[in-house]
Amino acid sequence: MSDVEKRDTVIIGAGPGGYVAAIRAAELGQSVTVIEKSETVGGVCLNVGCVPSKALINAGHRFKDAQDASTFGITTQAPSIDFSKTQEWKQKKVVDRMTSGVRMLLKKHKVDVIQGEAVLDSDTKLRVVSTGPKQFMSADDGLTIEFKNLIIATGSRPVEIPGFKFEGRVVDSTGGLNLPEIPKEFVVIGGGYVGTELAGAYANLGSHVTILEGTPSILPNFDKDMVSVVLKQMKKKGIDVVTSAMAKKAVQDDSSVTVTYEVDGKEATVKADYCMVTVGRKPNTDDIGLEMTSVKTTDRGLVEVDTQGRTSVSNIFAIGDIVPGPALAHKAFFEAKTAAGAISGNKTANDWVGVPAVCFADPELATVGLTQTEAKDKGIEISTAKFPFAGNARAVSLDQPDGFVRLVTTKDDNHNLLGAQVVGPGASDLIAELSLAVNSGMNAEDIALTIHPHPTLSEPIQEAADVAIGFPTHI
Ligand code: FAD
Repeated sequence: MSDVEKRDTVIIGAGPGGYVAAIRAAELGQSVTVIEKSETVGGVCLNVGCVPSKALINAGHRFKDAQDASTFGITTQAPSIDFSKTQEWKQKKVVDRMTSGVRMLLKKHKVDVIQGEAVLDSDTKLRVVSTGPKQFMSADDGLTIEFKNLIIATGSRPVEIPGFKFEGRVVDSTGGLNLPEIPKEFVVIGGGYVGTELAGAYANLGSHVTILEGTPSILPNFDKDMVSVVLKQMKKKGIDVVTSAMAKKAVQDDSSVTVTYEVDGKEATVKADYCMVTVGRKPNTDDIGLEMTSVKTTDRGLVEVDTQGRTSVSNIFAIGDIVPGPALAHKAFFEAKTAAGAISGNKTANDWVGVPAVCFADPELATVGLTQTEAKDKGIEISTAKFPFAGNARAVSLDQPDGFVRLVTTKDDNHNLLGAQVVGPGASDLIAELSLAVNSGMNAEDIALTIHPHPTLSEPIQEAADVAIGFPTHI
């Protein structure tokens, strides 16, 4: 029998949930061990998610901007692109830099990082088995750790659908981020956040993109009038969006893949260089030995937790993509700090009123708090106030006048802010102010009385607040 090592706070996974939990737990004086099965830290987000996708989106914008420079009277030669250099920049200058930064932070906080796959044996013990081809060692071979407290942050992985095995020219989001070339024809199955973002990136890089979406609209989590702003831009870029389209199968040869799908009972095909399937993700909870513990899961395999992230076993916490709620890195960051605090005996709690959600489409969409539909579904009487970027000097001077800011407030004279949405330039950054306002229980007057710098993209927020209180200025 191998020796059993006793450790205080153990964390499985070094993604946004795991590494932030480790840092916060160390700051709070805990002795922390992180077990990570992959060679790098940072999880999906830093390695194959948020960060490389935004790098590729940025490269696409730069390429497109260079092509569109004549709008501003600038004459350039037609730009060309060496995609292998783009990929190298994304990996070395962005991903590697960020992951090595996380590695340094963990070191600075004296967090012990063990590389290997953790498998739970009981409510207090786990084994660390070697990574690489999956072969579970017996407890005799592996390192066994007895923990005082455990935070599980094992994240999620892409869902595969029948007829679309991830191999060759049929790729998941990770493959989509790492294509060896810019496809001439690119089919994206699933018009959610990830599909829409990467469809936009490749369209800007020169691909002709077809999105096949199973529901009647892409980005179903955003208001219809927000999505129509994005659809208008997609049309300009020549992206074909086919909705209510059920993807049936992909057949590939050496140089192409043919995707068959069905719309209104009729079959159609589209031929492409690559087909990326982004129809959702499933939590990594099925092969970590949870069945050996008393931790309860939902029928979707998510771990049931209380507001501190505590599972049905009092010394085991779960955070990030494996617990209910939106699968977003900033949600994982927050849950990580809460769980680390709870282990230290602090009265921390997660509050999901103000979790912003952003899609880095063209233009960006962002929402926080309640949408008008959600508020109405809850039986709340609301007013909405909207201000278009077309009335904002900064947006016009950037040649990006499409979109708007909307505030959702109570219908009474207080105009308490229940939620807000932004679609337009800089929406991903602008939503932070609105998150603060929603989280702080502010009303429209608080925003209207806050001086916003001119000329900036933030002004439409103040202008929408002016609309909400009945004193619109520039509309
Ligand atoms: P993960 O990041 O998945 O990390 C889990 C870690 O656990 C991994 O490193 C894994 O190797 C390790 N692990 C798993 N099982 C074991 C085990 N048994 N033993 C040891 N280690 C294990 N979110 C945003 O907020 N903004 C975005 O712009 C955004 N863009 C995205 C773009 C793409 C293409 C994708 C795929 C996702 C994107 N996300 C975005 C979502 C975001 O990446 C996730 O919500 C986030 O990474 C979840 O963090 P996590 O810590 O729960 O899990």
